Amino acid sequence: MDTLSSAEETKEASAEAACPICKGAGFVHPLLPSGKPDYSRTVPCSCTLKERDRELQSRLRKYSGLEARLLQNMTFESFDWKRANLPPEQSENLKKAFDTALDFAKAPEGWLVFLGVNGCGKTHLAAAIANHRLKEGKPVKFVVVPDLLDHLRSTFSPQSPVSYDHLFEEVKNAPLLILDDLGKQSTTPWAEEKLYQIINHRYNYQLPTVVTTNCALDEIDSPISSRLADPKIGVVWNINAPDYRTDATASRKRTRKKKPG
Ligand SMILES: [Zn+2]
Repeated sequence: MDTLSSAEETKEASAEAACPICKGAGFVHPLLPSGKPDYSRTVPCSCTLKERDRELQSRLRKYSGLEARLLQNMTFESFDWKRANLPPEQSENLKKAFDTALDFAKAPEGWLVFLGVNGCGKTHLAAAIANHRLKEGKPVKFVVVPDLLDHLRSTFSPQSPVSYDHLFEEVKNAPLLILDDLGKQSTTPWAEEKLYQIINHRYNYQLPTVVTTNCALDEIDSPISSRLADPKIGVVWNINAPDYRTDATASRKRTRKKKPG
């Protein structure tokens, strides 16, 4: 009992210290036209609203799969599409990919598929879409496909009695889903079938989905690629910029002091 009440006191004391407006009560009395407080009514104090915002943000972030610091830092603001040493044709292509991603982030509709080699910027753009939605307080699910397949493989196997899986349902029905690094992963037929079910479900219900892959569409299983390539539902964007890591190393070697554009 004693511990509980002293813990309560500490909590109250810190809330009081935190908010000078409501003294930690969490609510205030609205003002009457006369300027005096209306003691018959209460409204949430701004500190409570901020707290609710923070809670919503942290719930959304947990749900999003974007906990990794690296992914959190991949925003539109941090995207360097002007990479100094890209030839104009590639630079133009990257700029258009960037604009397409930004438009999608503002109003996700249909599917957006980014093709391109590793390091061309497609994962950055996909994560930037996710981070943009999160900042707006909108739910988004970011999934790395090989990790998802690992999960599905361990969950749905002939020996496994599992018929319902939380992550599988979440991914299938996410209001906005980002499938990063879809490829030619060799996995079990059950995991493959589950991935197909996710894609087919989202295709049938036209749920907003972003896919990145370093494969050409014809290298991907045809039931999946035919859905990705359907112009009725989405846009396929081929990013033709090379791996940024190679040109970053090259430019670092060339100019140590000069800041990139
Ligand atoms: Zn307050």
